[in-house]
Amino acid sequence: MESAIKISHEHLTNIFKSSIFTDTLEKCANNTYKDGVETGFEIRQDIYSDNFFLCKISKGNCDSMAGCQTKFLGNWNDKMFLGSYTLIYVHFHPYSKETIIPSDFDLLGIRDGFNDIIYKEEKPYKYETRSIDGIARINERKNIDVLLIQPKQRDYFIDKISMELGRYFDTQKRDREIIKILKNNNLNADLISYKRKNSIYTLENENKLKKFSFSPKFKEFSDQ
Ligand SMILES: [Zn+2]
Repeated sequence: MESAIKISHEHLTNIFKSSIFTDTLEKCANNTYKDGVETGFEIRQDIYSDNFFLCKISKGNCDSMAGCQTKFLGNWNDKMFLGSYTLIYVHFHPYSKETIIPSDFDLLGIRDGFNDIIYKEEKPYKYETRSIDGIARINERKNIDVLLIQPKQRDYFIDKISMELGRYFDTQKRDREIIKILKNNNLNADLISYKRKNSIYTLENENKLKKFSFSPKFKEFSDQ
């Protein structure tokens, strides 16, 4: 069996700095800023090569992306879909001034992103893929922050995290306190920022992407 391609720091940097990514991020930000609803998009990664694919922007409602389906951009075919997995899923929360706090729906999605099913010659294979979830906000100066979260294991206690995050709902909370709670609960987490200069978004802290690198691991043949 071919081995899965490692998701290196360099590969993640290429994606997060690519114009296809930053342009889509900007479109989502503008939609959310204007309409006050969540918007998001997915990057799918081919399991056996460096190729990655952008999916269409989807629109949620004012407090979740519930019910949103992945729709594909460009010349998609089943083979590209079946041989790839969700590497990055970014969505914007509409409350631009507030600290980014993952909802229970987000935490469930992050947990489910730990594994994915890849098809090869119509056979399903289960891989540990550790999808990266990005929850984003745009502020008044039109800069964009993205809280990145990645599961370190399949099971963690969503109720416990939710309760710990909930303590901060009615207070002035800080991003670093949220990141600390997530890290203490077996999640990888950090905040990256895009600064807007001359209408172009530039990633400020690409070194933070290093801790999100991983190698997809083959788990089992699956009948899912
Ligand atoms: Zn969310």
